[in-house]
Amino acid sequence: MPETHTSLLIVDDEPSVRASMSQVLSAIGYQVRSAEDGFSALAEIRKEVPDILLSDLVMAGMSGHELLSVVRRRFPTVQVIAMSGAFSGDEVPSGVAADAFYQKGSSVGSLLKLLAGLPRAKRRVPRRPAAAVTPIWIQRGGSASDGETWVTIACPECLRTFPQPTGSSINLLRQADCIYCHSLISYGIVPPAKRPPVSALQRARGEEKLQVASQPQFYY
Ligand SMILES: [Zn+2]
Repeated sequence: MPETHTSLLIVDDEPSVRASMSQVLSAIGYQVRSAEDGFSALAEIRKEVPDILLSDLVMAGMSGHELLSVVRRRFPTVQVIAMSGAFSGDEVPSGVAADAFYQKGSSVGSLLKLLAGLPRAKRRVPRRPAAAVTPIWIQRGGSASDGETWVTIACPECLRTFPQPTGSSINLLRQADCIYCHSLISYGIVPPAKRPPVSALQRARGEEKLQVASQPQFYY
């Protein structure tokens, strides 16, 4: 029997698979949640990081391959089991960031054996992901024909990129909702930097004993 507080997140686009696996695994003592694709799985993980992630590989939207690589990078303490009917055997398919592989359709007993064989999850305090995220910095983008300016944001959670209008706000730090995984992203737009005038550069080269500020000059 697993420890009753071992939490597990099942990700599968097939409602019947989610339902039957949830039923079996909660009956034997796991705390089970489920999600229908990679994006909603990331949303669940942000609410609370599970001990174990059990994810299908082939899903619409964000596939299991993408989800697992994001989870390995962002939430390295999560034990990951990949599952699929497209691969056979018990080896993790190459390139898949998982600790174990479950061939879909094989017996529940073999899944339970996989779960029991995972290294014991370390208790983590706190179990919620850090709320304060370092802002990402973005170069100013182009302008559309109507004069609206845009930046392209690369979501640090799901690694997708999407355009974001900059609006008229002059705040250096802003926030955006990722259009894919709905995580809140703090970002800043890098102020345009101009090189110092040539004469200043020449002066700096000519008089090396002068301490030249190494900070780039920003002009707003
Ligand atoms: Zn995202």
